[in-house]
Amino acid sequence: MDIHEYQAKEILSKFGVEVPVGALAYSPEQAAYRAREMGGEKWIVKAQVHAGGRGKAGGVKLCDCDSAIQQACEGMFGQKLVTHQTGPAGKGIYRVYVEAAVAIDREIYLGFVLDRSSQRVMIVASAEGGMEIEDISASKPESIVRSTVEPAVGLREFQAREIAFALGIEPALVQQMVRTLQGCYRAFLELDATMVEINPLVVTADKRILALDAKMTFDDNALFRHPQISELRDKSQEDQRESRAADRGLSYVGLDGNIGCIVNGAGLAMATMDTIKLAGGEPANFLDIGGGATPDRVAKAFRLVMSDSNVQAILVNIFAGINRCDWVAEGVVQALRDNPVEVPVIVRLSGTNVKEGQKILAKSGLPIIRATTLMEAAERVVSAWKSDLNQNTSLRAAK
Ligand code: GDP
Ligand code: MN
Repeated sequence: MDIHEYQAKEILSKFGVEVPVGALAYSPEQAAYRAREMGGEKWIVKAQVHAGGRGKAGGVKLCDCDSAIQQACEGMFGQKLVTHQTGPAGKGIYRVYVEAAVAIDREIYLGFVLDRSSQRVMIVASAEGGMEIEDISASKPESIVRSTVEPAVGLREFQAREIAFALGIEPALVQQMVRTLQGCYRAFLELDATMVEINPLVVTADKRILALDAKMTFDDNALFRHPQISELRDKSQEDQRESRAADRGLSYVGLDGNIGCIVNGAGLAMATMDTIKLAGGEPANFLDIGGGATPDRVAKAFRLVMSDSNVQAILVNIFAGINRCDWVAEGVVQALRDNPVEVPVIVRLSGTNVKEGQKILAKSGLPIIRATTLMEAAERVVSAWKSDLNQNTSLRAAK
């Protein structure tokens, strides 16, 4: 789960990371008011969206008076910010963060990530801040400092000092850099984060080390033990299809294709998507409905998949081990009776009670296309989708 910059800053500051003075606003008037309240002469107005690259996309504006703040905000509220990280649809701006501007001496990149190969938290830093890490590793790979933390001892001072020296932090600021690094590490560990990124971490003209930007991502599977973090979830920043699925306990990832997938088991769901592609189609989603594919769950899955207007055919692929094909078949029939769909539906059942399952589908009188193997199912769904598409186009042409 991602959170907003202002939320990450609030969290990190509790762990000893210094951040600029700032305030949140929900309207242009409030933004100007909050800037007056905090005082100073220059402010940075920052769109709060779950994505980086806001600066280049017009989501970060330097302002020197009330009306400049209001104007900057007018251009943000209610708009979609499209950055290289949001995808073409962009992300809606509903909050802005106003900060007292600071004079920057130098910018540093600082990231904490889970390194799966060493099974450690890895600190990634570069003296070339202000750029995205992908660009740094492309253009200045030698500037990147990597350091893994031994979990049994944690991030010790000497290791943090080593990183500070490698970044060329001047001696008088090393202690503050150590505090910053240790604070981020503690926040990462204690809150079950999977990523903490400060880009840029700056040395100010008056010699302070400040986190000018902050991004944190948390492990969804650990959110149950951090209610104060799960509260920060902002559905306006998520793919609507995925939020809806998460609320219903379904594991769903939205994609750009037209063939909706309803599958039990994550591995089988991946294999189904691959096979659809192999057969010449594009999956509209990944969906694992889990082990107990009850009629109710199958019905929810159909509604979820059909809520994506790109879906033009559906493939249900069930391998019943613990499950029973006859129950799943009942589920499919009931779901389709309650919520008839207008696109071709292909069902492939395999495993326990498969014959009974097939019978139920056949007897239902519903226009369900059946398949035995996964390859067959994928080929049928792709050809059904194509012929449906041709029919619709000729219908439209005839009108
Ligand atoms: P991002 O583009 O989404 O990563 O947003 P950032 O928070 O990193 O802001 C983009 C850029 O704006 C930063 O890299 C800074 O160079 C600049 N910036 C942000 N805050 C300040 C500030 O207080 N003073 C100055 N001079 N520049 C700032
Ligand atoms: Mn940034």
